[in-house]
Amino acid sequence: MKHEIVITAQGHKGTLERLQNEFAAVKLWEAADRDAALKAAAHMRGLAHFGHSKVDAKLMDALPKLEIIANFGVGVDQIDLAAAKKRNILVTNTPDVLNECVADCALALTLNTLRKFPQSESYLRAGYWPTKGPYPLCTSLGGKTMGILGLGRIGEAIAKRAQAFGMKIRYHNRTKKNVSYPYDADAVALAKNSDVLMVITPGGAGTYRMVNAKVLDALGPQGYLVNVARGSVVDEPVLLKYLQEKKIAGAGLDVFEHEPKMSAEFYSLDNAVLFPHVASATVETRKAMGDLQVENLHLHFAGKPVKTPISA
Ligand code: NDP
Repeated sequence: MKHEIVITAQGHKGTLERLQNEFAAVKLWEAADRDAALKAAAHMRGLAHFGHSKVDAKLMDALPKLEIIANFGVGVDQIDLAAAKKRNILVTNTPDVLNECVADCALALTLNTLRKFPQSESYLRAGYWPTKGPYPLCTSLGGKTMGILGLGRIGEAIAKRAQAFGMKIRYHNRTKKNVSYPYDADAVALAKNSDVLMVITPGGAGTYRMVNAKVLDALGPQGYLVNVARGSVVDEPVLLKYLQEKKIAGAGLDVFEHEPKMSAEFYSLDNAVLFPHVASATVETRKAMGDLQVENLHLHFAGKPVKTPISA
């Protein structure tokens, strides 16, 4: 007999297919009456989660037998970890398998933001080259300092790549690590000492709007911000104002606080490169994330330790 699980939302196609083939699954987002669907699922022990919707205490309470929440993705800021801990519900995520892909995207954003490749291509396509002449000069990466806010699994992969481009690395975490990169005691000091501030912390309450006006002032008019973490880590209205007023040189953003919605004012900025949250979006990486999510569920139902638990 297949184990029964609740799936919260529409997600990666191949993973959804596996979940539906290998488990008896209730698709919560398709339920005409969500409360009735949850009532019918009250005996279920597993939940697979995708995307931005909240997995809060109310949802957990509706599933009194719930033992495991298996998240698709490394970031678990949408899951109430305290509520899960209180109920002794295991939470799993999909770390490491996406490090390289997300780091590639972080470097792509850094290159595109400093070198303005998307803007220069638009300039060519608009037919300006023959009439207005060469595209204006931009900024090199080599010799610049990248300050990594959140030197964890992905941050370390970003550091390796940035060094290959000739950049110097420094970082800030709450805990100093045993690495050779210089450490700054807070985000303001890191921004002050960096040309590019790379944000790759988790989201959630602990980092909410951590990159605020003070941090952006420290980064200064020659400094660039790149955010591949979560939109919530940056004070977005302040960032928009700083970009419009050229109080920082530019920004590369993969994430937005209320994505997929965002202020339309971002679209008209010439000093920002904007990606629609694509850092882990490759066929290979999304499959690896899904395989890990599914494996964690199978391991739990087999009474074995899961591969990647979150320790709250
Ligand atoms: P890790 O846990 O390995 O690294 C996170 C780092 O952030 C740690 O070094 C941690 O150090 C630091 N950190 C945490 N809280 C703070 C804080 N308040 N102040 C300063 N530093 C802090 O996570 P990963 O590298 O695997 O992933 C990081 C995040 O990247 C994810 O949580 C997710 O939000 C985001 N992400 C975004 C993706 C995208 O598509 N754009 C894809 C994948 C991940 P310490 O605990 O010592 O402070």
